[in-house]
Amino acid sequence: MASVTDVWDRPLTDLRISVTDRCNFRCVYCMPKELFGPSFAFLPRQELLTFEEIERLARIFQTLGVRKIRLTGGEPLLRQELERLVERLAAIPGIEDLAMTTNGSLLSLERARRLKSAGLKRLTISLDSLNDETFRAMNEVNVPVSRVLDAIGHAEAAGLTPVKVNMVVKRGVNDQDILPMAHHFRFTGHILRFIEFMDVGTTNGWRMDEVVPGSEIVAKINAAWPLDPVAPERPGDVAQRYRYRDGAGEIGIIASVTAPFCRHCSRARLSPEGQLYLCLFASQGYDLRRLLRGGATDEEIRDAVIAQWTGRRVRYSDERHQHTAPQPKVEMFRIGG
Ligand code: SAM
Ligand code: SF4
Ligand code: SF4
Repeated sequence: MASVTDVWDRPLTDLRISVTDRCNFRCVYCMPKELFGPSFAFLPRQELLTFEEIERLARIFQTLGVRKIRLTGGEPLLRQELERLVERLAAIPGIEDLAMTTNGSLLSLERARRLKSAGLKRLTISLDSLNDETFRAMNEVNVPVSRVLDAIGHAEAAGLTPVKVNMVVKRGVNDQDILPMAHHFRFTGHILRFIEFMDVGTTNGWRMDEVVPGSEIVAKINAAWPLDPVAPERPGDVAQRYRYRDGAGEIGIIASVTAPFCRHCSRARLSPEGQLYLCLFASQGYDLRRLLRGGATDEEIRDAVIAQWTGRRVRYSDERHQHTAPQPKVEMFRIGG
């Protein structure tokens, strides 16, 4: 199989597919409610790539080295009949890992089982706090913690394991929940990952003083339950891994602000309307839908992706401190995490 590398010699191994820009949450760090009210215009249905189109692209990406696919959004479980897409992607030879990130609020046990039998391997479920008041204030739509804890249980029961739990930490908002969250997920087999609040998009009012550095999170947990660092599974992995010395399991730290990992970033991102993004912080995508709907052959689409990837030099997080003026950036709910 051919592989393609960018100007910094980074291979293309991961594809994140955002299946919808819609979400039933209004997380303060992603889609603040005051800006994304009832009149906000999401993409109309005909703008979205069809499952057939997504599968075709995924097959082309696979020939370029992609082995791992993650479905995301917006909220991916809002996309009708998502299981049909999972089935199509799971059938692509050479795709070794097929996972999804969800807020969990729509994940019944039945749905989790359907996703598993369609070929989904693992789930990452986002949960920012165990405190109902804090969580409701962060998701801004009054969804209780119990709903997401149930979803984590359903994912486990369906065998979508190990379940990863994503907690975005914002100073002054939920940093008091770091230890309770760590405590709750010890000895469960679930991997809790603490994510630094990032300056994604242009609408979340990001400020550096609201970022809790990963090192501070590790120190806090280590003081309560000693941790040992664990080597990354693969060079492109974003999380720094730690294991509890007492055998309680593993945690991850995603310190994209204080310890960027652009050097090994091997991810391409596909937006719901078929734009290819080479970075989470990109200002512009490349329109693959135009090629798909304009009658391009697989070869032509493949060449276009190769041209994009081989010209890729973006390393936003590595260079964050050099940006003096605010940059135009795609919104997180458009391209997922
Ligand atoms: N709606 C799904 C969910 O929340 O899991 C999938 C899409 S969401 C954009 C993917 C991940 O990005 C979530 O774990 C979310 O917490 C994280 N995220 C969103 N905005 C973020 C920000 N400003 N900083 C850090 N992580 C963020
Ligand atoms: Fe929706 Fe996920 Fe963004 Fe929250 S983080 S608003 S759940 S897309
Ligand atoms: Fe990859 Fe861009 Fe994130 Fe750097 S900032 S790790 S290049 S997505």
